[in-house]
Amino acid sequence: MVKAVPWRSFGSNRAVRVLKALIYPRRSNAGISFSLPWSKRRELDSQSAQKLISSVEAFVFDLDGVIWIGDSLIDGVKKALSDLRSAGKSISFATNNSMRTRAQVVARLKSMGLDWVQEANVFNAGNAAARLLESKGISKDKEIYVVGEAGLLDEVSARGYRTSGGPADTGKSLDDVPAALERIDLDSIGAVVRGLDQHFNYYKLAIASYLVRNGCPLYASNMDLYFGKIGVSKQQFPAAGSILMAVASASGRQPPVPDALGGKPSLEFANQVRQSLGCPYGKMVMVGDRLDMDIEFGNSAGMQTLFVLSGEMTRADLQSARGPLVPDYVAESVALLGFES
Ligand SMILES: [Mg+2]
Repeated sequence: MVKAVPWRSFGSNRAVRVLKALIYPRRSNAGISFSLPWSKRRELDSQSAQKLISSVEAFVFDLDGVIWIGDSLIDGVKKALSDLRSAGKSISFATNNSMRTRAQVVARLKSMGLDWVQEANVFNAGNAAARLLESKGISKDKEIYVVGEAGLLDEVSARGYRTSGGPADTGKSLDDVPAALERIDLDSIGAVVRGLDQHFNYYKLAIASYLVRNGCPLYASNMDLYFGKIGVSKQQFPAAGSILMAVASASGRQPPVPDALGGKPSLEFANQVRQSLGCPYGKMVMVGDRLDMDIEFGNSAGMQTLFVLSGEMTRADLQSARGPLVPDYVAESVALLGFES
């Protein structure tokens, strides 16, 4: 079972405080207080679903375990999204998966029958991390070292930055490190950007940690420590947050955290979504299957939140959820948002 206690996984109280300051920068000095909105748990039925739908303008869906499992749409999703669109609701997708570009996500959704999806409807952690470079004032003259896959590299390139690392460093080893360090001009490197990398290796760890240790900022797509392969097995696999901790630890950071975070549950990501949709948080619903990423993301920003049981987490996780991890609504799946015919 997936356990919904993300903060404690990062270690000491100081690490937790530093991470919360990264995610909630505007609230970090005031302290995080989560009160009433998360104390209510509501089973969504068709009546309350219609009430929820009529009270908002935009739905933001996580993808894996919410819209699709493996290569298939979850039952009822196509009709539900079609019904929401015909009711005039805006539909968007927000994913922490940084391995695919937004264009690849669009192509995948279209191949599943959602032919109306455009890139503007998709927000991903790779794009969010790439946008951090601009919001943090990293010059376009600088090169960005990427620990991640082609999807993240493409998102960084698309913002106008030169890149190094990524898939090109797959297959390299310790033997390649000394010559690489000789070639590095620290003044030309603007930052290290890190996402999920299935081909993470010693070389990438050595280069990224050298850069961070020597003053390059470290930006992260997201910090999920694990992901589950829904529908394949009950196993869990290390996610981007685990790679982040390896790079930050090897860089000598205590606690091992990044300088900024791109994806869910960061408020900066929520702000990108809000600005793009032109819709206040109070008129948005975040729909997700992870209490510790999706629901916390939506609650922290001030959206309404709907937890669906079609993905990674269960009712047992809901029972143990506290504070910002408690959703406003619970449903078996997105299908409940479809109108009865
Ligand atoms: Mg998910």
